[in-house]
Amino acid sequence: ELPAIKGKVDFKDVVFGYDDEKILDKINIHVEPGETIALVGATGSGKTTIVSLLSRFYDVKGGSVKIDGHDIQTVTLASLRKQMGVMLQDPFIFSGTIMDNIRYGRLDATDEEVIAAAKAVQAHPFIASMKDGYLTEVNERGSRLSSGQRQLISFARTLLADPKILILDEATSSIDTETELALQKGLETLLKGRTSFIIAHRLSTIQNASRILVINKGRILEEGAHDEL
Ligand code: ATP
Repeated sequence: ELPAIKGKVDFKDVVFGYDDEKILDKINIHVEPGETIALVGATGSGKTTIVSLLSRFYDVKGGSVKIDGHDIQTVTLASLRKQMGVMLQDPFIFSGTIMDNIRYGRLDATDEEVIAAAKAVQAHPFIASMKDGYLTEVNERGSRLSSGQRQLISFARTLLADPKILILDEATSSIDTETELALQKGLETLLKGRTSFIIAHRLSTIQNASRILVINKGRILEEGAHDEL
């Protein structure tokens, strides 16, 4: 069981491959609680692989990943994932209302708490502008919702869940300016007080990160703040 964490993360000499081929070769990353780490690099460089290991979607083949000093191999998956919020490029939307979809982050949240979370991450205006508002029905394919709107819903859902560690794969598809701005501001709110790993595609995210890791062929090529790289 992983106890309540602060969000310190250590990748130590992490080696990984999906098969015999080494994808990550002795990766070292040290992250203090509350830091925002932007991962950038060419397609296939290993960004997704790195964050997959943190949520133990796959197990490392060498070295270790520790959270607050606890090797993640030694804790239960449930206790690990409970403290981690994973936001994918194409967030999971199920059949039901927008209210239900946000509440999925914490099932006992009241309507007021759902709306407060949506407001905090800038999702409220687009939801309120829909005819049925929070009671608008959406489905698995996210019909009626744009890619950016689906991400805003996943931000609200994650804020409700309140995990200490965030993993975000930013949407790459084109997003209108208004939604883009909402995402940027919403993300700022979401990141406060959490350790975050963002596979970053937007310049604003990269600029606001406390550190940027440039990944190349499974290695960290460069590391620093935006103005240092
Ligand atoms: P992108 O920006 O395209 O998402 P990425 O930097 O996230 O790329 P990864 O998805 O981590 O890169 O991929 C790193 C390498 O691992 C690539 O060579 C890829 O082909 C390989 N790979 C990724 N997932 C798998 C998998 N499930 N099985 C086998 N090989 C994989």
